[in-house]
Amino acid sequence: MDTEKQAKIIEPVIYDLGSAGRKVSTLLPECDVPETELPSELLRDDLDLPEVSELDVVRHFVKLSQLNYAIDKGFYPLGSCTMKYNPKIDEDTARLPGFAMLHPMQDPDSTQGALALMYTLQGWLAEIAGFSACSLQPAAGAQGELAGILMIRAYHVDRGDTARTRILVPNSAHGTNPATSSMAGFTVVELPSNDDGDVDLEALRREADESVAGMMITVPSTLGVFDKNIQEIIKIVHDCGGLMYMDGANMNALLGVIKPGELGFDVMHYNLHKTFSTPHGGGGPGAGPVAVNDRLKDFLPGPVVTIVEEPNELEAAPLYGWTMPSKSIGRLKAFHGNFGMHVRAYTYIRMHGDEGINAISRHAVLNANYIRVRLADTYKVPYNRMCGHEVVVEGHFEDAPGIHALDISKRLMDYGIHPPTNYFPLIVPEALLIEPTESESKETLDYFIEVMKTIAAEAKENPDLLHSAPHVTPVSRVDEVLAAKQLVLCCRPVTVG
Ligand SMILES: *Cc1c(COP(=O)(O)O)cnc(C)c1O
Repeated sequence: MDTEKQAKIIEPVIYDLGSAGRKVSTLLPECDVPETELPSELLRDDLDLPEVSELDVVRHFVKLSQLNYAIDKGFYPLGSCTMKYNPKIDEDTARLPGFAMLHPMQDPDSTQGALALMYTLQGWLAEIAGFSACSLQPAAGAQGELAGILMIRAYHVDRGDTARTRILVPNSAHGTNPATSSMAGFTVVELPSNDDGDVDLEALRREADESVAGMMITVPSTLGVFDKNIQEIIKIVHDCGGLMYMDGANMNALLGVIKPGELGFDVMHYNLHKTFSTPHGGGGPGAGPVAVNDRLKDFLPGPVVTIVEEPNELEAAPLYGWTMPSKSIGRLKAFHGNFGMHVRAYTYIRMHGDEGINAISRHAVLNANYIRVRLADTYKVPYNRMCGHEVVVEGHFEDAPGIHALDISKRLMDYGIHPPTNYFPLIVPEALLIEPTESESKETLDYFIEVMKTIAAEAKENPDLLHSAPHVTPVSRVDEVLAAKQLVLCCRPVTVG
């Protein structure tokens, strides 16, 4: 066949649309800062940018934005990440000029509204998890973990107990848990899980001694299950003098059901960008507040918001200010955390109220269990018991030996679904960690389940279809190793092989 005739007409990209002189159509706002000379080494004459009309620019960026996948576009069951819908009202409040235009160096007298919001949020987060105090400062879950572990270290050192050098971490923990412990200078002791996915209690008893500073445990674990022996675990660690850290990134399963502080945990971090719907992805700003019991509250990172003057006859509202906890581990961030995230989380909690908060978790857990039960006849569910807000299945089949979890994930994209988390948790072969979240309808869950079953059938009948997937995305199967090693950061379009 004549290849000339087959050639497609390629739509011009923005770089080809440029024509000298068109830049007059761009109206820049007037400069509102004094002009200064820039250092000459930062200047260049040969910047080769296309001169295009406003319409061309708008189309360019709208097209780019539509290449991205987002929760606003489709189902996003990325396990451990809680990709729930981010209500637009959160965005409205975060953009209120009184919040958005604040400067962190402003005098507290002129930021009382923001401080009141932070003070209230600190209180709610402490209350929801059953703790007595909270600091909003950490900018991510992992930084909240670091804060927690540094507090545990400071607590022991403060008591003159410097022999505690080990942190216990179950092998079902999130990868950040051992990383955090080792960053804080501790030796990480990995604990095995038993056949149910719970911590092996015998192994825990063997390790629990005076060299243990504490234990970091993810609840529910990354296997999606709630450890049946959690109270026993807490007791064993406390009895040997260690403190208990709960990784609270999975609080979406526990809101209004269990208060970790009441269970006996000493410290926990939240991921506001997971549980409380502040958007995340692409490395955007997060928030990982830490909540603690009385034992640790003087060690919180700070400053934290406190009431410096109670209401009186003249002032109906209290006066808020910044206070450094007496034995604080110090600052974790130049200012006060990612405030925009605090406004969004505040809005989300306020919109739900206490009963709504509980409904979040009940629906998240129901949705995950619905998927678990309906997929169990097609996919192997290694821990097939009541799960929390996510469920792990194995992405391989005995009668389709060439198919891996990755192939299933890539094929899901052809059906307009974001892949689940792959190859994590590490202790499950070919793991697919599926987290539907509470925001999805039954119809969406049914569509996902049907697609997963269809892909399982395709895996056996036409495995090549999976191996070459995805077929409908702008870029098909990429060589992920090469893509990471030979980054193409050029803004010019490149031909992808
Ligand atoms: C996401 C997550 C973390 C890390 O949180 P970041 O905000 O990404 O730093 C820690 N533990 C668990 C269980 C998580 O799911």
